[in-house]
Amino acid sequence: MGNAVSVTAWMHEAFAAVAAEADHLTQLDSAIGDGDHGVNLTRGFRAVEQALADQDGTPPGKQLILAGKTLVSTVGGASGPLWGTALRRAGRALGDAATLDGPALAGALEASLAGVVELGAAEPGDKTMVDALGPAVEALRTAVDGGSSLADAIAAATDAAAAGARSTVPMQARKGRASYLGERSMGHEDPGAASTTLIVAALGRAITAGD
Ligand code: ADP
Ligand code: MG
Repeated sequence: MGNAVSVTAWMHEAFAAVAAEADHLTQLDSAIGDGDHGVNLTRGFRAVEQALADQDGTPPGKQLILAGKTLVSTVGGASGPLWGTALRRAGRALGDAATLDGPALAGALEASLAGVVELGAAEPGDKTMVDALGPAVEALRTAVDGGSSLADAIAAATDAAAAGARSTVPMQARKGRASYLGERSMGHEDPGAASTTLIVAALGRAITAGD
């Protein structure tokens, strides 16, 4: 019945995307942060890919928990603990589920968002990754509940994340390093929102035939 997301494929595609866009992410972070965002995520997702290399038979929830732990231990910047928490919470929400199908993915990413908000205390409009992840999770849930295919639901989530990332341009940062800039943070896209769009989009290339 329908398709599912492969965690190893998702993490592989996320690594490929952040590596390909590393310079762009670093540019965004140079404008309003310390210029390490592309390097941080490339290092982190490369380590995740390596950690998952021999975990093909492991249930998706356990794979996500391992991925999250790996990000926390390899990324020094804020994005390590934030995405680490996101993936660990997704994994915990999945439990022992055998497949990451649409409803499971929606529930897992809702748990991710809750974990990120709990850890970083960012609200919508604070110019953070939450401004991309929040709309993405909401769009995914709406699409899944409305009976969309997994591919269509992820496409809707990706569009919502991209729109959310664009919406951070005029915002003034109220969380993280960019908040030190005050009004000077306005007029730039938030790097974490940009990378979140890449990571959500990577889900769409990680769909495999399910049961
Ligand atoms: P650092 O700021 O430590 O150098 P990164 O450059 O890797 O870390 O990541 C910066 C991104 O982290 C920001 O663009 C923002 O999206 C996200 N971020 C920072 N602080 C928070 C927070 N409190 N809540 C949510 N996201 C945050
Ligand atoms: Mg940085």
